[in-house]
Amino acid sequence: MSGNQSRSQAINDITNRDVRPIEGVGEPLSSIWATDVFNLSTMEEMLSKSAFKAMKATVQNGVPLDPATADVVAAAMKDWALSKGVKFFSHIFYPMTNITAEKHDGFIVTNSDGNAITEFTGSLLIKGEPDGSSFPNGSLRTTNAARGYTAWDPTSPAYVMHTANGATLMIPSVFMAWTGESLDKKIPLLRSNAAMDKAAQRVLRLMGETEIEPLNSSCGAEQEYFLVDAHFANSRPDLLLAGRTLFGAPSPKGQEFDDHYFGAIPERVQVFMQDFEDKLFRLGIPAKTHHNEVAPGQFELAPYFEAANVAADHQQLMMTVMKTTAKAHGFLCLLHEKPFAGVNGSGKHVNWSVGNSTQGNLLDPGSTPSENLEFLLFCGAVIRGVHLYGPLLRSVIASASNDHRLGANEAPPAIISVYLGDQLEQVFNDIKDGNVTLDTDGGSMNLGLDQILPFQRDPGDRNRTSPFAFTGNRFEFRAVGSSQSVSGPLVAMNTMLADSLDWIADNLEAALPEDGGTQEDLVAAVAAVLKKLMEEHHPVIFGGDGYSAEWHREAVEDRGLRNLPTTADALPVLTEDDVIALFERTGVLSPIELESRYEVYAEQYILSIAVEAKLMVEMARTIIYPAAMSYLSDLAVVAAKAKKVGVDVDTRAMASANESATALLDAADALAATIDEHDFDSTEKHMRFCADTVRGLMDDVRFQADTLEVKVSDQVWPLPKYREMLFIR
Ligand code: ADP
Ligand code: MG
Repeated sequence: MSGNQSRSQAINDITNRDVRPIEGVGEPLSSIWATDVFNLSTMEEMLSKSAFKAMKATVQNGVPLDPATADVVAAAMKDWALSKGVKFFSHIFYPMTNITAEKHDGFIVTNSDGNAITEFTGSLLIKGEPDGSSFPNGSLRTTNAARGYTAWDPTSPAYVMHTANGATLMIPSVFMAWTGESLDKKIPLLRSNAAMDKAAQRVLRLMGETEIEPLNSSCGAEQEYFLVDAHFANSRPDLLLAGRTLFGAPSPKGQEFDDHYFGAIPERVQVFMQDFEDKLFRLGIPAKTHHNEVAPGQFELAPYFEAANVAADHQQLMMTVMKTTAKAHGFLCLLHEKPFAGVNGSGKHVNWSVGNSTQGNLLDPGSTPSENLEFLLFCGAVIRGVHLYGPLLRSVIASASNDHRLGANEAPPAIISVYLGDQLEQVFNDIKDGNVTLDTDGGSMNLGLDQILPFQRDPGDRNRTSPFAFTGNRFEFRAVGSSQSVSGPLVAMNTMLADSLDWIADNLEAALPEDGGTQEDLVAAVAAVLKKLMEEHHPVIFGGDGYSAEWHREAVEDRGLRNLPTTADALPVLTEDDVIALFERTGVLSPIELESRYEVYAEQYILSIAVEAKLMVEMARTIIYPAAMSYLSDLAVVAAKAKKVGVDVDTRAMASANESATALLDAADALAATIDEHDFDSTEKHMRFCADTVRGLMDDVRFQADTLEVKVSDQVWPLPKYREMLFIR
């Protein structure tokens, strides 16, 4: 189809769409929950008592599995999968590119009689060799053979994915080079959790705890997304290739009435959500809340929080299922951070806490003074971590797409500070100023704070402008982008916490007498360590308006925080000495693993801007400019005909459209000239060029095209418009 035909056809098809919802969903939760998951309760049914016990210790406490048990588990997993119609299995893994990767293998082997049998051993379960030499691996490519291996992660349950004609057993795995370096997002997450656990145990032991189960981090991620009718999306090469609109004049009606936010969910979307959530339930993913978001066509889904490693795998799976289910419902699901200019973008708030079964959630204030002491130490550790490693937190969420959102007046600023709420901020300030009175009368520890503690669960007016906020019993990292893997943010948070807890443990040890001292000594040591921590790190705490110009000035000039507005500013943080040392010291990433990550992320940034720039030039020259010419030609024909009968047609519209069309071509030429530019002596300079030059030229092309859109006749305009795409019918 050419010209505006596809757009008018799309409108026509949508208007005549069969409105009957897809049937067959809505089964009771109890009959679908986790039916496609090989979880502990499935294993309990299928494994011998001893094998189950070994597997449970592995899943819950990370105890290594012996090969004999792995064989038994593999056999049970195969039988379970075959009973569900599975013929193939796949190790599923998470390369550094934010995506989910898989390589499918058959259970089938043939014997000498030519018969097909199925086979699946412990060693096949444990280790795969997808090769994967084409995945970007940064500098690891030059130092190691590119060959990659996958290894089963027994702590994240295997599951079955169904398609119309079959099913595949999916085995969550890590992905590494043959020398053992991580090539993925799972290994550092597991390592960061272990580092956090080790440091947290040190602190808890110093606090006098004797029974301490392993600590784990938890994550609940709120996923925002847009839905666009597939008829429209299919006529927009930018949505299909770049995941966002590169062009589009604002809709006369946008989000200004706030009539979409938490409004009634359109029935068609509810039907999609119900289908999608049923699929998640079968996969054991606890979808919990869903609602309309601020922009028209924008929605949110938040699953209930889980252990970080499982939550991260579930997040990836959720994004996949979201996209495929949307397709079945005639939508394109957009996970891009800024699919439409001028309306809100999409984030993924990452709610994060740490805890275990013996001490509970350590970011929960709790009800007794001693629980509060532990809470204050862990919360203080987070404050210190964000102050020292805020730039790292900024860099792990840096991407070309998230740059459109951060720092704009709808999303958290690119300056990372901590919001604690008035009450908790006051407590920490009192600690800093020495305004707490120590009182151990009656043997109970008391920081003199129990008139304020326990805290209100929800600290009053919640500051939505903060990138990193305490929300009662967890921190919420709000600057994460909607399309991103949550692993990077979780790794950064766990690692900075591990580092701070070690610092706290070192300082407590130094402050306490050799024999540990009395309760009074302990309380005094905690107060002293927290005071020292706050004296150094209070500048990162901020409860005001993070969007304001005054904050941007104050943060940088008075408080010494860093404002890293673009990916070109933020990614080089990964090459800074203190960050390299942090990851090396905690054992989360070796310098070479970190360097490879920097290179992969930088390359992705450069590539995604290059793809958008090329597409922009092509669309401007071959879709938008021709539409303008077609409009001018229509006007010229009318003018010529009118002249013949002695009427002079006003030519202002022609002149104006012509002027914008010429400006569009000029802007596209200027952008095209940058695409072939390759002479950069460093990756950093190349990123700078993208951020400072290419992005500006792209804005120019867009400005001219969007100006044309409101000049050219609606009848010849080829691209579905914002006012059409944003409102779901
Ligand atoms: P809001 O929009 O008010 O921030 P939502 O209910 O949309 O809240 O999402 C909150 C998310 O935080 C959910 O995924 C929830 O399960 C998660 N969450 C709640 N408690 C914790 C916790 N202790 N640790 C980590 N995540 C949590
Ligand atoms: Mg929410």
